[in-house]
Amino acid sequence: MEKPVKDKIKSIVGAGNFTDSEEDKLCYSYDGTALLHQLPEAVVFPDDEEQISRLMKLANEEHFNIVPRGAGTGLSGGAIPVENSVVIVMTKWNKILEIDNRNLTVTVQPGVITAKLQSEVEKFGLFYPPDPGSMSVCTIGGNVANNAGGLRGLKYGVTKNYVLGTEMILPNGDLLKTGGKNVKDVAGYNLRDFIVGSEGTLGIITKILLKIIPQPTSSITLLAYFDRLIDSAQAVSDIVSAHLTPCMMEFLDNTTLNCVEDYTKIGLPRNSEAILLIEVDGRGSIVQEDAETVTRIMKKNNASFIKTAANLEEALLLKTARRSAFSALARKRPTTILEDATVPRSELPVMIEKVTEAAKKFDVTFGNFGHAGDGNLHPTCLTDERDNSEITRAHKAFDFVFNEAIKLGGTITGEHGTGLAKKQFLEQVAGIPGIEMMKKIKCVIDENNILNPGKIFTISPRCEGALPRSRDQIKDFIK
Ligand SMILES: Cc1cc2nc3c(=O)[nH]c(=O)nc-3n(C[C@H](O)[C@H](O)[C@H](O)COP(=O)(O)OP(=O)(O)OC[C@H]3O[C@@H](n4cnc5c(N)ncnc54)[C@H](O)[C@@H]3O)c2cc1C
Repeated sequence: MEKPVKDKIKSIVGAGNFTDSEEDKLCYSYDGTALLHQLPEAVVFPDDEEQISRLMKLANEEHFNIVPRGAGTGLSGGAIPVENSVVIVMTKWNKILEIDNRNLTVTVQPGVITAKLQSEVEKFGLFYPPDPGSMSVCTIGGNVANNAGGLRGLKYGVTKNYVLGTEMILPNGDLLKTGGKNVKDVAGYNLRDFIVGSEGTLGIITKILLKIIPQPTSSITLLAYFDRLIDSAQAVSDIVSAHLTPCMMEFLDNTTLNCVEDYTKIGLPRNSEAILLIEVDGRGSIVQEDAETVTRIMKKNNASFIKTAANLEEALLLKTARRSAFSALARKRPTTILEDATVPRSELPVMIEKVTEAAKKFDVTFGNFGHAGDGNLHPTCLTDERDNSEITRAHKAFDFVFNEAIKLGGTITGEHGTGLAKKQFLEQVAGIPGIEMMKKIKCVIDENNILNPGKIFTISPRCEGALPRSRDQIKDFIK
């Protein structure tokens, strides 16, 4: 990027909000995704909507790309810079603007840390349920852009279930407002839901209105040990088909639980093939009844031991240990490739066996854990990127896992997004007409393809007003 263009960017955001030092660029060259990184041309920290709007207009005039970024914890490469790009970091936008106790809503800037939002609304007896494992560092803006899930998704749903409205700056510099505090609103197309999960490709989110709900008054947390992995998966399937909805049903295999135990030293059963962490919550005696039914089903599926957390502190300890699974696995080998294959819950036992089969077939080490109640697994390959042969085998193993997930009626990503990491598999789940529609939408909103280009799918070169028409042309478009 030429110096005069950088000077124009600097004049928009101010010298203090601009950096192009090699050290800073390196810090923003990657996110949580293994194996992917690229240096940006510059990194900026805008103060207000006006600055973002002017940056978008300048990018169209001067033909550079813009990549929005929250905390950079994404696991599909969504915030990784692309060629000739400026990264717009939104972490300074960290204010909770309003907690509305009468309408049960909260209005936030996108850089608010998810756990901070949760603790602030809890002071009013209210509850914001979506809780990605990264919630102590990730931002609400990143959660909305990726439609993040979390441990409580089974009962409470994911980010999209809580977004009532958004404000965002479009690639042409306009401010788009969607949604509002109305519980019901069917005026026109539902643009709000369309923005959730758009992975920073359609606009930069600057304000978010979220639904909050009353806090559950009681909960019971259970930890079940299983000698056979397959029994734990069957127990999950049986709990769902018994019409129970725990708020959390998390699975850790033997590799993962041993890594977590090495890290946390909380006494997890090292010899068990799998453990399930289950929490039931709600109001009154129903919580106790649900816990008893869950316990019965786990015993029927050969749980060797079931422990009930003695108090909230112990429950929190167990949940924090579960949240550390990725970090604990990452300590074992230099390169941790974490994936997001998801299947209908009834297919979970088969999918877990397929991950084990992939590890054997391609001679790689997998730790497997995830939101079992959602059918959302995180097979995690422990590798070393300096070993080309191992990385090739890891990629083949993941191809196998994704293909098996799709065969079972599943998908390539349950919550991490497509980004760069999964776009080669998108056609298999979205189909060519689906990708064609996505590209048309992108080209209408971002005529010059300046905003996070190459994420989700590739449009090459810039849209240039010409969209592919034939199936063959579209196939050429999909890289
Ligand atoms: C240890 C660990 C555990 C995790 N656990 C979970 C989990 O349980 N569930 C889950 O869903 N994910 C999980 N993740 C993935 C990740 O934390 C989520 O995807 C999260 O939503 C990303 O938020 P972020 O602020 O880090 O966004 P980033 O990584 O910075 O960005 C993510 C995407 O959002 C876009 N974006 C960011 N801010 C904006 C904005 N203001 N406007 C427009 N686009 C924007 C970026 O361009 C990018 O495409 C985990 C990650 C880690 C490292």
